[in-house]
Amino acid sequence: MSGNRRFSFAAAAVFLCAGALVALRYCGAAQAPSATPPNVETTFSALGTFVTIRAAAPDEAAAREAVEGATELIKRLEKRLSRYDDESDVSAINRAGAGAKVPVSDETLDVLLKAAEISEATGGAFDVTVGPLVELWKAAGKAEKLPDEKALQEARSKVSHKHLEIDREARTVTKLHDGVSVDLGAIAKGYIAERAAAFLRSKGVKSGLVDAGGDGVFIGGVEDRPWRIGVLDPRNPPEIADAVFLRDAAVVTSGNYARFSTIEGKRYSHIIDPRSGRPAEGPDSVTVIAKDGATADGWATALSVTGEEGAAAARAAGVECMMLFVEEDGLMRVESPGFTGYRKE
Ligand code: AMP
Ligand code: MG
Repeated sequence: MSGNRRFSFAAAAVFLCAGALVALRYCGAAQAPSATPPNVETTFSALGTFVTIRAAAPDEAAAREAVEGATELIKRLEKRLSRYDDESDVSAINRAGAGAKVPVSDETLDVLLKAAEISEATGGAFDVTVGPLVELWKAAGKAEKLPDEKALQEARSKVSHKHLEIDREARTVTKLHDGVSVDLGAIAKGYIAERAAAFLRSKGVKSGLVDAGGDGVFIGGVEDRPWRIGVLDPRNPPEIADAVFLRDAAVVTSGNYARFSTIEGKRYSHIIDPRSGRPAEGPDSVTVIAKDGATADGWATALSVTGEEGAAAARAAGVECMMLFVEEDGLMRVESPGFTGYRKE
């Protein structure tokens, strides 16, 4: 990692173009000339956040059809991957006893395999079986009392990606212990955004985006310019701390500023370090740029756990990242050398 280890950012920049309070803000770098292909945009509630889809296509009807199809796809994939939907593959895995081979869809298999890859690369810092620990710390936050050691150990015993056996050929998932559960919250949004973007591309969209509350997949650029994407300031989220320029890439920010709990005056992240069983104490926000949404989403969460320690593995996986740490005297930024390249238009 290189970077401004003691870098205080200047005040908010000028990139406030669109959207609600999400971790990314984006806008086209170009002024739209009259020959600009029609843009269709929609925002709706899904994936536990607000999702925005934008597409430019040669004619408005084609753009509208592409956006409507992508919207339906997102809703369908959410049903398949959500642990809150009784009919999802994830719920079937969570209900199953140890040893039962649970048949899963291609999408579930894809996401679990990508998750397993990130778990391996991070020595278990990323782990989709972390649910029992997430729940324990959520309850502790509500009660404003730290969990006791016995409860912590019990939850930990149920957490390990190694407790899941994935059979690619048979397309089944088998739990090796009872009590193991799957929560794809750290990776599914990026995966689904990527699938929706792929759908838009398949309909001829050459410029567009899918943003699921800070999980953004960008198609092409805007006219002949790249997308300009603002990264929120973790100290004051409506403000922009930084911006990147890119085409055809996924950008995801994971931060502890939107969701956290406070126990005995100390702030605890909603992201858990499965290795210690305790909330992650890594960066306050991590922004990842990768070639696809699932990789970006998974690694943004993984690096929120590992901090700089995971940076080499991230680079080996083709991931560029920027970490922001809130410190008394300002915002400290640490980033991979490749990330710096995205700051230039
Ligand atoms: P994200 O917003 O993508 O960073 O995902 C955060 C969500 O992922 C949390 O709300 C948990 O449901 C889940 N999670 C927490 N810690 C981990 C972890 N170490 N590995 C995988 N998923 C996690
Ligand atoms: Mg994530």
